[in-house]
Amino acid sequence: MGMVSEFVRALSVAQGHDYNNCMHELALAENIIEIVTRCAQHEGFTRVGRVRVRVGTLAVVIPEALQTAFAAAKRGSPAETAVLVLESEPGQAWCRDCAATVVMNDALDACPCCQGYALRITGGNALRVIDIDGE
Ligand SMILES: [Zn+2]
Repeated sequence: MGMVSEFVRALSVAQGHDYNNCMHELALAENIIEIVTRCAQHEGFTRVGRVRVRVGTLAVVIPEALQTAFAAAKRGSPAETAVLVLESEPGQAWCRDCAATVVMNDALDACPCCQGYALRITGGNALRVIDIDGE
Protein backbone atom coordinates (compact mmCIF):
# COMPACT_ATOMS: atom_id res chain seq x y z
CA MET A 1 0.00 0.00 0.00
CA GLY A 2 1.47 3.34 -0.99
CA MET A 3 0.84 6.43 0.99
CA VAL A 4 1.24 9.96 -0.21
CA SER A 5 -0.15 12.31 2.34
CA GLU A 6 0.00 16.02 2.89
CA PHE A 7 1.49 15.02 6.22
CA VAL A 8 4.58 13.73 4.42
CA ARG A 9 4.80 16.69 2.11
CA ALA A 10 4.61 19.09 5.01
CA LEU A 11 7.76 17.54 6.41
CA SER A 12 9.88 17.70 3.26
CA VAL A 13 13.50 18.19 3.98
CA ALA A 14 14.65 21.49 2.55
CA GLN A 15 18.40 21.69 2.73
CA GLY A 16 21.06 24.05 1.63
CA HIS A 17 24.51 22.58 1.55
CA ASP A 18 27.02 23.19 4.29
CA TYR A 19 30.39 22.51 2.72
CA ASN A 20 32.06 22.41 6.12
CA ASN A 21 29.76 19.71 7.38
CA CYS A 22 31.09 16.29 6.44
CA MET A 23 28.11 14.74 8.25
CA HIS A 24 25.73 16.29 5.72
CA GLU A 25 24.34 12.96 4.48
CA LEU A 26 24.00 11.56 8.00
CA ALA A 27 22.02 14.59 9.11
CA LEU A 28 19.78 14.19 6.06
CA ALA A 29 19.34 10.47 6.69
CA GLU A 30 18.33 11.14 10.31
CA ASN A 31 15.89 13.74 9.06
CA ILE A 32 14.37 11.24 6.62
CA ILE A 33 14.10 8.59 9.37
CA GLU A 34 12.28 11.09 11.54
CA ILE A 35 9.81 11.86 8.74
CA VAL A 36 9.29 8.16 7.99
CA THR A 37 8.76 7.36 11.68
CA ARG A 38 6.20 10.11 12.13
CA CYS A 39 4.40 9.17 8.93
CA ALA A 40 4.37 5.46 9.84
CA GLN A 41 2.84 6.32 13.22
CA HIS A 42 0.33 8.61 11.55
CA GLU A 43 -0.70 5.93 9.03
CA GLY A 44 -0.64 3.10 11.56
CA PHE A 45 2.15 1.17 9.80
CA THR A 46 3.88 -1.46 11.88
CA ARG A 47 6.36 -2.22 9.15
CA VAL A 48 7.85 0.28 6.74
CA GLY A 49 8.79 -0.79 3.22
CA ARG A 50 9.97 1.39 0.39
CA VAL A 51 10.64 5.04 1.03
CA ARG A 52 10.93 7.16 -2.09
CA VAL A 53 12.99 10.30 -1.82
CA ARG A 54 13.55 12.78 -4.61
CA VAL A 55 16.97 14.39 -4.52
CA GLY A 56 17.51 17.66 -6.32
CA THR A 57 20.57 17.79 -8.56
CA LEU A 58 21.54 21.05 -6.86
CA ALA A 59 21.19 19.65 -3.33
CA VAL A 60 24.77 18.33 -3.60
CA VAL A 61 23.94 14.97 -2.08
CA ILE A 62 26.03 11.91 -2.89
CA PRO A 63 23.49 9.05 -3.32
CA GLU A 64 25.91 6.34 -2.14
CA ALA A 65 26.79 8.35 0.96
CA LEU A 66 23.12 8.95 1.68
CA GLN A 67 22.35 5.20 1.34
CA THR A 68 25.20 4.35 3.72
CA ALA A 69 24.10 6.98 6.22
CA PHE A 70 20.48 5.81 5.94
CA ALA A 71 21.47 2.19 6.64
CA ALA A 72 23.24 3.37 9.79
CA ALA A 73 20.52 5.79 10.89
CA LYS A 74 17.60 3.36 10.52
CA ARG A 75 19.15 0.73 12.80
CA GLY A 76 17.09 0.35 15.94
CA SER A 77 14.49 2.85 14.74
CA PRO A 78 10.83 2.13 13.85
CA ALA A 79 11.95 2.53 10.22
CA GLU A 80 14.49 -0.28 10.48
CA THR A 81 12.91 -2.23 7.60
CA ALA A 82 12.76 0.78 5.28
CA VAL A 83 14.36 0.56 1.86
CA LEU A 84 15.51 3.90 0.54
CA VAL A 85 14.79 4.53 -3.14
CA LEU A 86 16.38 7.68 -4.50
CA GLU A 87 15.13 9.53 -7.54
CA SER A 88 16.81 12.55 -8.99
CA GLU A 89 15.09 15.81 -9.71
CA PRO A 90 16.68 18.24 -12.18
CA GLY A 91 17.78 21.61 -10.95
CA GLN A 92 15.79 24.55 -12.24
CA ALA A 93 16.43 28.26 -12.30
CA TRP A 94 14.90 31.45 -13.58
CA CYS A 95 17.06 33.98 -15.41
CA ARG A 96 16.39 37.62 -14.56
CA ASP A 97 18.20 38.80 -17.70
CA CYS A 98 16.42 36.78 -20.36
CA ALA A 99 13.37 35.69 -18.33
CA ALA A 100 13.92 32.04 -19.24
CA THR A 101 13.29 29.09 -16.98
CA VAL A 102 16.27 26.81 -17.47
CA VAL A 103 17.54 23.43 -16.33
CA MET A 104 20.66 23.63 -14.17
CA ASN A 105 23.06 20.81 -13.48
CA ASP A 106 25.35 22.85 -11.27
CA ALA A 107 24.58 25.87 -9.11
CA LEU A 108 27.60 27.65 -10.60
CA ASP A 109 26.51 27.24 -14.22
CA ALA A 110 25.73 30.23 -16.42
CA CYS A 111 22.37 30.69 -18.12
CA PRO A 112 22.34 28.44 -21.22
CA CYS A 113 20.31 31.06 -23.11
CA CYS A 114 22.25 34.28 -22.47
CA GLN A 115 25.41 33.01 -20.71
CA GLY A 116 24.66 35.38 -17.85
CA TYR A 117 24.70 34.68 -14.13
CA ALA A 118 21.49 36.38 -13.04
CA LEU A 119 19.98 33.02 -12.21
CA ARG A 120 17.71 32.37 -9.29
CA ILE A 121 17.35 28.72 -8.35
CA THR A 122 13.69 27.74 -8.33
CA GLY A 123 13.85 23.98 -7.94
CA GLY A 124 15.93 20.86 -7.57
CA ASN A 125 17.88 22.12 -4.57
CA ALA A 126 16.20 20.07 -1.87
CA LEU A 127 15.31 16.59 -0.73
CA ARG A 128 11.71 15.54 -0.59
CA VAL A 129 10.11 12.42 0.77
CA ILE A 130 7.65 11.45 -1.99
CA ASP A 131 5.90 8.46 -0.49
CA ILE A 132 6.24 5.67 1.98
CA ASP A 133 5.09 2.07 1.67
CA GLY A 134 4.08 0.19 4.75
CA GLU A 135 1.63 -2.23 6.26
ZN1 LIG B 1 19.52 34.06 -19.37
